[in-house]
Amino acid sequence: MFSLDSLSVSHRFLALPNSFYTQVEPTPLDNPRWVAWNQELAGELGFPEVVEDEPALLDVLSGSVSNEHIKPLAMKYAGHQFGIYNPDLGDGRGLLLGEVAGKSGQTFDLHLKGAGQTPYSRMGDGRAVLRSTIREYLCSEAMAGLGIPTTRALAMMVSDTPVYREEVEQGALLVRAADTHIRFGHFEHFFYTGQHEQLRLLADRVIEWYFPDCLDADKPYVSFFAEVVRLTAEMIAHWQAKGFAHGVMNTDNMSILGQTFDYGPFGFMDDYEPGYICNHSDYQGRYAFDNQPSIAMWNLTALAHALSPLIDREDLDHGLETFTPILQTEYSCQMRDKFGLSTKQSEDGDFFNRSFDLMESEKVDYTRFFRALSNIDRTGIAPVVDLFIDRAKAQAWVESYLLRCMLENDSEAERCRKMRSANPKYILRNYLAQQAIELAEKGDFSLVHQLADLLKFPYEEQAEHEEFAKLPPEWGKRMEISCSS
Ligand code: AMP
Ligand code: MG
Repeated sequence: MFSLDSLSVSHRFLALPNSFYTQVEPTPLDNPRWVAWNQELAGELGFPEVVEDEPALLDVLSGSVSNEHIKPLAMKYAGHQFGIYNPDLGDGRGLLLGEVAGKSGQTFDLHLKGAGQTPYSRMGDGRAVLRSTIREYLCSEAMAGLGIPTTRALAMMVSDTPVYREEVEQGALLVRAADTHIRFGHFEHFFYTGQHEQLRLLADRVIEWYFPDCLDADKPYVSFFAEVVRLTAEMIAHWQAKGFAHGVMNTDNMSILGQTFDYGPFGFMDDYEPGYICNHSDYQGRYAFDNQPSIAMWNLTALAHALSPLIDREDLDHGLETFTPILQTEYSCQMRDKFGLSTKQSEDGDFFNRSFDLMESEKVDYTRFFRALSNIDRTGIAPVVDLFIDRAKAQAWVESYLLRCMLENDSEAERCRKMRSANPKYILRNYLAQQAIELAEKGDFSLVHQLADLLKFPYEEQAEHEEFAKLPPEWGKRMEISCSS
C-alpha cells in the first residue's frame, strides 16, 4: 500500500501571507473512482504506477479524506477576460494541494480541479464536469507528446455527484501537475488593489523559485520580465506551428512560465484556416488562431503594467519589444523543420506565403498535409496531391517544393526522416475527443485510454491506430464546443 510519507511534498505557496490565498478543504464527491492515471508522470513524481488497489490514495487525491501532507488552498488572482479587467477571480473550483519533488529534482504543483466551492467561486458550483475534464486530460498529455510547453494531467476521477450545466452531468476531478499555477493575473491582483509590497513579494518568490538565474542579473525584475516574454513567445510559436488554438487567452489563463494553461474550448485546426475560432462564445474572434500572437503581446502588456511599480517604463517597453523577434525566429525555425528546409534561400519568404495561401484557398487539412509531405520518400506525392481540390494546382505546388528541396544538403530520405519528427501523425482532433467523451459518459473509458496512449507518441507510426490519423468527418469540423465546463 502506497503512503504519501514516501513523497517529498512541500507547501511553499502556503508560506506566503494569507492575502495570497484561502485555505479550503475540498468538498467530497459521491463515490469517486479512478478513470485515468498517468503512469509515466506518476512514476516521475514518486507515485505508484498502478492505483487500482490504492483506495487510500484515491481518498486523498479526490479530496474525500484529509492527510497531513496535503494542505489545500485556493489561490487569489484577478485577470483580464476578453479584454475587460475582472478583480473577482481566483481558484473557484480548484485547489493547490502542495508541491511534489519529482525524481529528476523538478518540483510540480499538484492541483485538484473540480474540488468544490471556495471564496472565489462567485456564482459557480466549484465543480468540473466529466466532458471538460476528459478534454483537459487528453489535451495536456497530447501537448506534452508534441513537445509543446504545458501543464500536465496526473489523474482523472469521476463520481456520482450530479452537476448542473445545460443538462445534468457527472462531477469529475482532474489532478493537474504543473511547474507553477501562478498566472499573469496574480500580479494584476496585487497591482490593481494597490498592494505593491505584496506585488514585490510575489515577484521575489517567483524569481527565487522559478528564475533563480535572474538573481545574478543587474536588474533581477527586468531580467525576470524578459524571461516571461521569451517563454510566452516560444509557447505561442509552438501553438502557431502546430495549429493549436487555445480559445480563452485571458490573463488569468496565462502561466508565468509560458506553459499552455487551462484547457477549455481549445481546438487543433483541421482545414488550414488562419481565422479559425474554436470558442463559440468568442463572437468577435478575439482569440482566433491568427490573433494569438497579438493577444499574447496584449497580455504581456497587461503584465508589464502590473509590474510597473517594480520596473521602469523604459525597461518594460524594451522587454515587450523582444516578443515579436523571438516569436518570429522560433516560429520560422519550426516551420522550416516542418517543410524540411534547413538552408535559407532568398525566395523562401515567397515560397512560404504561396504555400499558406494555397493551403487556405484549397482548405487543406493542416496536419495531414505536413505528414504527407514528410512521407514523400515512402509514398510518393499522391497523398499530398489528394488533399487538394484543384489537382493541377497541387501538382504544380509539389513540383516547386521538390525543386526547392534540391537546394537542401540532406538526401530526400534524411529530410523526410527529420520531417516526421516535426510533423505529427496524430493530434487530438475535436471529433476524436468528442467520441471519447460520448463513450465515457456511458461508462466506457476505453477510447479515453486509447487516445491517451496514442497521443503520447504523436510522431510515431502506430499502424494499429491508423483510423485516428484519418481526415475528420464533416460533422467533426463543425463541432460547437460549449464553454460551460
Ligand atoms: P476558467 O474559464 O475555467 O478559466 O475560469 C474563470 C474563472 O471562473 C476562474 O476564477 C475559475 O475559478 C472560475 N470558475 C470557472 N468555473 C467555475 C465553477 N464551476 N465554479 C466556480 N468557479 C468557477
Ligand atoms: Mg482559468
